[in-house]
Amino acid sequence: MPHDHHDHDHPHALLPPDPALRVKALETLLTRKGLIDPAALDEIIDTYQNRIGPQNGARVVARAWRDPAFRAALLEDATAVVADLGFFGRQGEHVVVVENTPEVHNMVVCTLCSCYPWPLLGIPPAWYKSDAYRARAVREPRRVLAEFGVALPARTAVRVWDSTAEIRYLVLPMRPAGSDGLDEDALAALVTRDSMIGTGLPAVPA
Ligand code: FE
Repeated sequence: MPHDHHDHDHPHALLPPDPALRVKALETLLTRKGLIDPAALDEIIDTYQNRIGPQNGARVVARAWRDPAFRAALLEDATAVVADLGFFGRQGEHVVVVENTPEVHNMVVCTLCSCYPWPLLGIPPAWYKSDAYRARAVREPRRVLAEFGVALPARTAVRVWDSTAEIRYLVLPMRPAGSDGLDEDALAALVTRDSMIGTGLPAVPA
């Protein structure tokens, strides 16, 4: 060979392949330059990973199951109702609640990116952000639901809602059979994250 192609030391090969490494590198640099406070960053991450999560949405759903006036207000203007409960903030500025019935099952996607009601559900799961879910939720929602283990009666229509930066949807699932005597805490424990995205159903009481 007249010359070597040194493909193996092309500059790209020197970059860390893992996005987590790049994020760490950026964080280190910004911290060194005094542009961010790592303690504040940890606080934000902790807030969205541990303190804000699906338990907030579950609380809202459980209350709606028990209190018809609350349910009506929630369906009318969810943003105001959930803000009253203290669930507001980034990515939750305009929340719309869509109610499942025997006739209609609602399912939420963000076809463009990963818009999601953070104050009610926390950080979106990886599958919600995946290309596959974003494309297939609209094209073949019943097949996607089947893969999540959700089988609906033939007479139930599936309605897919495309979240945007302006509107974040939360599904109000149907109250499971056998949950009649339960208090709000026990009901909230039945509400799964996926049931509020529409890719799951609430747990059935033991
Ligand atoms: Fe988005």
